[in-house]
Amino acid sequence: MAMDRRVFLVLLLAGCADTSPQGPLTVISPAPPPPAPSPPPPTMPAPTPQTPVPAGELAFDTWMQDFRGRALAAGLSPDLLNRELSGVIPDPRVISLDTRQPEFSKPVGDYIRGVSSEDRVTVGRNKREQLAFLLEIEARYGVPRDILLAVWAMESAFGQLQGNFDVVRSMVSLAADGRRRAWAEGELIAALKLIDSGEVTRAQLKGSWAGAMGQTQFIPTSFRATAVDFDGDGRRDIWGSDADALASAANLLTRGGWKRNVGWAKEVILPPGFDYSVTEGPREVPAWWEARGVRRADGLPWTAQDAASPAMLILPAGAAGPAFLALPNHFAIRTYNNSTSYALGIGLLADRFAGGAAPITPWPVETPLSMSDRMAAQIALARVGFNPGPADGVIGAGTRRALRAWQQSQQLPSDGYLSNDMVARLKAQAGISP
Ligand code: CA
Repeated sequence: MAMDRRVFLVLLLAGCADTSPQGPLTVISPAPPPPAPSPPPPTMPAPTPQTPVPAGELAFDTWMQDFRGRALAAGLSPDLLNRELSGVIPDPRVISLDTRQPEFSKPVGDYIRGVSSEDRVTVGRNKREQLAFLLEIEARYGVPRDILLAVWAMESAFGQLQGNFDVVRSMVSLAADGRRRAWAEGELIAALKLIDSGEVTRAQLKGSWAGAMGQTQFIPTSFRATAVDFDGDGRRDIWGSDADALASAANLLTRGGWKRNVGWAKEVILPPGFDYSVTEGPREVPAWWEARGVRRADGLPWTAQDAASPAMLILPAGAAGPAFLALPNHFAIRTYNNSTSYALGIGLLADRFAGGAAPITPWPVETPLSMSDRMAAQIALARVGFNPGPADGVIGAGTRRALRAWQQSQQLPSDGYLSNDMVARLKAQAGISP
């Protein structure tokens, strides 16, 4: 999947990242990943370079010369490097996409509604009935077909939008640019090794601007480590074979800790006066939560497997929106893209494919927060003594933790959700003009 899958999860607000075929988009409007230190998801470790990779700006020719040394040390031949890298120059579109900063963050409810559009649900339900190989993949890997269909829908619109960037050139562009050099060089070396092995040609190695390839948007290291040949033709073809692509996604999720017969999340209703400070906190079995008044929104009983599984409370839109107990497989989905909103979107879309309904508690109607408001809230939190980390406008786990602590100090529901109201209160308290 994507991108950097993204790379970054750059999650604004509730930590939502969206993947588009053209690159990972954060929920926030077209938000590409920030210059994040972490590689994109699928979270596969980047290969350790043989020699240290220098950080910072370098002239392109200087970078290329240095990189060739590291590529040779990684086992690639001079002939291959000459053939594949001669004449390659950075693609300005890739750098532009990599440095976009969205002005507004999309409210998570809008994101989830977009993920679960009726058109998409209809297509998914049809494919669910038509594609017999889905049940074979489910039997082999233990990942439900509805989850695989949701990944397929989110990553490439069921294979329709795979991206047409030359992955080698995209990785050259990102590596030479330097913001994510070590990650991009690792992906570049993996892409060159794929070509060198004869498994994939340069012409076939197409993907998003951030190097996410095929129907499941695997970056090259993920492809090498986890793609599988499911249809038995001897090739791992995540571009042209639906069965190979979805089995590869199932394999990635299995390696990410997917547990057979365990759920991903259940919507819950919280009792009046609930202590929201446990949001994104302890992972406890459903009976622990029920002892605190938490009950399933659908009123159904827990399966034996889910009843024995630790679950985390998440409130993607704060106390005003739906609440969920995230079961172990929620976190397996996050190995694909480490975003709460992404994983929730996959799970809710899968529920719809299986015939389920949208969440019972409606998503609140919200105005998107601007970058300056997000940054002002972070500056205000730091000023009043609750360090949220860098004031970068990205509302990640650190900012949410600081926000919960501040809310608790103000006797506000400590849901860690940065609403417009919270921004206004923080700015007022910190003496930042509105
Ligand atoms: Ca195949």
